[in-house]
Amino acid sequence: MSDQSATSVIVSGETANVFDAVIVGAGFAGLYMLHRLRGLGLSTRVYEAGSGVGGTWFWNRYPGARCDVESLQYSYSFSESLEQEWQWTERYAAQPEIEKYLNHVADRFELRGSIQFDTRVVAATFDEAAKRWTIQTDRGESVTASFCVMATGCLSAAKVPAYQGIDAFRGKMYHTGQWPAEGVDFSGRKVGVIGTGSSAIQCIPHLARQASHLFVFQRTPNFSVPAHNGPLSPEVARDWQANRVKYRHRDRNSQFGFRIELNPKSALGVAPEERQREYEARWRDGGFAMLGAFADIVLNQKANETAAEFVRSKIRATVSDPAVARKLTPIEYPFAAKRLCVDTDYYPTFNRDNVTLIDVRARPIREITSTGVRTVEAEYALDSIVFATGFDAITGALLNIDIGGRAGVPLKQHWSEGPRTYLGIMIAGFPNLFTITGPGSPSVFSNMVLSIEQHVEWISDCIGYLRNRQLATIEASVEAENAWGAHVNEVANYTLFPRARSWYVGANIPGKPHVFMPYIGGVGVYRQKCDVIAAHGYEGFALRP
Ligand SMILES: Cc1cc2nc3c(=O)[nH]c(=O)nc-3n(C[C@H](O)[C@H](O)[C@H](O)COP(=O)(O)OP(=O)(O)OC[C@H]3O[C@@H](n4cnc5c(N)ncnc54)[C@H](O)[C@@H]3O)c2cc1C
Repeated sequence: MSDQSATSVIVSGETANVFDAVIVGAGFAGLYMLHRLRGLGLSTRVYEAGSGVGGTWFWNRYPGARCDVESLQYSYSFSESLEQEWQWTERYAAQPEIEKYLNHVADRFELRGSIQFDTRVVAATFDEAAKRWTIQTDRGESVTASFCVMATGCLSAAKVPAYQGIDAFRGKMYHTGQWPAEGVDFSGRKVGVIGTGSSAIQCIPHLARQASHLFVFQRTPNFSVPAHNGPLSPEVARDWQANRVKYRHRDRNSQFGFRIELNPKSALGVAPEERQREYEARWRDGGFAMLGAFADIVLNQKANETAAEFVRSKIRATVSDPAVARKLTPIEYPFAAKRLCVDTDYYPTFNRDNVTLIDVRARPIREITSTGVRTVEAEYALDSIVFATGFDAITGALLNIDIGGRAGVPLKQHWSEGPRTYLGIMIAGFPNLFTITGPGSPSVFSNMVLSIEQHVEWISDCIGYLRNRQLATIEASVEAENAWGAHVNEVANYTLFPRARSWYVGANIPGKPHVFMPYIGGVGVYRQKCDVIAAHGYEGFALRP
């Protein structure tokens, strides 16, 4: 497929610095965006900070890393032949298999030639006179493009808290989101893990099996449900292939973008025995099934408490030391209001003799020393520290780039009180800049591959629409942006989700404005809204020649 467009100004091989489109990031989003824009005949360059494709699945190589939306659903649906030829081996594929899949996609659709690896975009500035974006990289390159698509990821800006003394540590330090490609052997080592979110919950059982001793430094306990992972059964795979079109349609029009049987009953409207049976069945199913146990779990505090108490009872039944079980038990926020974790053997790991749980809410970390971690109470000698401290989620990767819109207004300024977007796709004052799974869209509250595909298709249709009509720019109006922000808030406040100090509201990053960032009205509803807006000639956007 040609990488050249009849209408692009200059594009010639390696030296080209004028493109129709620049895409930042080569994960699920960037790869599919590139495929679609090439299909439109646009000259396109992708910049990727990593040295390979995969995004999340390139960087997060820690032991135990795997998806927690089932792989049959957590995969592209845009290509019939890709769907037929790729076989997943497990219910939830591990990182190496997902990375292999994305490499296969890059080869299958001949995408690599348009991707420049090991290159970080540091700035993107809109030139109002030329109606083009100027994009600068950390290699000193500067290119221009009519369209700039940020496929930078919601969970790609790894965050290490600024602990005093961190530079003095003489052992090895790792972040789960920047794991060495060659792997790490912790045999015989004393290891500290800081954090107990999704990544920690996945890697802790693996680290405990290797390390001589594992110290888990926990600030906030999380609710975790069992994955019940295993080989993908041939019957399930056959059923998926036979009914794939129907299932994909169901997922596109669902709440979360993947299958959860939603029980329409209220948790408070049934007898305790029926409630217990329902929760037990969901626990046996594994994964996010618990979320659909009753219609009001995420809407009503009392209903939520029944689910929370059920999970707490499982923790008490699994962890033999009652004091450790107590520390692992979340009590101060509603069930699922922080990202629900899905695990294999997480709670039983705390029954091992070589695992110690340290409550750093009660006894905070004071500093990292040359030999370990010192809390206000004790010093823990460590050979290695694993930071499972997560990401500056949703906005971090965007704000790490110096983005300037009309009149040079920095995105940082436009978002000084929290992110503002129209549909999570565009930003007022930033024409022709698209954000895939941006704040204000279902993003992390959904099967992200499905949400990525929806955004990519909406954006490429939009660019096709502009080009067919010889229109140069599209830009969200301030009114549409304000109305969308109010709607996102209103929907969030109807639920219990904003009640936790979570990364959904930016609470893990000191100084970050507290705004509930994802749109939780459901991916089906959201898709309809986006489609209607496009069908009405891009309502809420200004389109200019
Ligand atoms: C461990 C883990 C497990 C997950 N499991 C699931 C799951 O089960 N289900 C689910 O729906 N989601 C899951 N997610 C979320 C996951 O991030 C998305 O599903 C998806 O992979 C995001 O794809 P993306 O292309 O949007 O972003 P990413 O995969 O994050 O890719 C973004 C890329 O952009 C690059 N980039 C960023 N800034 C720049 C820059 N300035 N210059 C150049 N390159 C840049 C990054 O290097 C990165 O490679 C998980 C996330 C993590 C961390």
